[in-house]
Amino acid sequence: EPFLSLRGVSKTYRTGGRETVAVSDASFDLGDGEFLALVGPSGCGKSTLLKILAGLHPHDGGELRIGHAGFDPGRDIGVAFQAPLLLKWRRVLDNVMLPAEILGLPTKAARERARDLLALVGLEGNEDKYPYELSGGMQQRVSLARALVHDPKLVLLDEPFGALDALTRERMNLEIRRIWASSGKTVVLVTHGVQEAVFCATQVAVLTAGPARMADHFAVDLPEP
Ligand code: ADP
Ligand code: ADP
Repeated sequence: EPFLSLRGVSKTYRTGGRETVAVSDASFDLGDGEFLALVGPSGCGKSTLLKILAGLHPHDGGELRIGHAGFDPGRDIGVAFQAPLLLKWRRVLDNVMLPAEILGLPTKAARERARDLLALVGLEGNEDKYPYELSGGMQQRVSLARALVHDPKLVLLDEPFGALDALTRERMNLEIRRIWASSGKTVVLVTHGVQEAVFCATQVAVLTAGPARMADHFAVDLPEP
């Protein structure tokens, strides 16, 4: 039984009397611990598809199944978007701890984990700063750490490194792949970068322009880590 299963999932936005078909007839399966990259031109529905997976947008057609028995979408999903969406009145460490706090996880362990994750994304020493003291790229890395702090089974990433310089971006790709490889998490990454997709992912889904279709969904063999 796959971890993630979509059958004919579609989504039409209706705003101001206008209809935009953002996703139409998306169908695919993703196994446990796979790393799927969604690639395709701007506007093809990648973000919408990810938001549907995150439970942030209802889909209006088709069938969607996530996780196995006992999967709790409120507990077992971690998300990071292109916009870091940090709380500006909270210090960096407290931002990272937020999901663990909301879920009522033990504070001391969560703080340790938040520190480790900040170090992992190269932000050691920034724990007590406020978001405005960080560059855009640094804020994105905080947002990535926050997505992982509650040890989710499914990690959803939407262009999480758009604001990073090429070098840091490459480093973050390495870290994400390392986290993925050692944790057994299932990851879905939305990206413009085909190179990034092929480097990180075990599966690449190419969406074509216009309403998202899983036009060409092929597996990529990972080189040995
Ligand atoms: P991508 O992530 O591939 O760039 P999106 O999922 O953001 O694509 O957008 C797919 C289509 O849906 C686009 O035509 C976009 O303009 C439209 N769209 C996205 N979000 C909304 C929204 N909240 N309301 C109306 N239309 C939207
Ligand atoms: P990136 O976005 O990849 O982190 P930047 O070019 O934005 O890189 O910033 C390079 C470095 O300059 C950062 O790693 C950080 O140390 C510092 N920096 C950038 N913007 C700020 C800021 N607003 N406040 C403090 N330090 C900053």
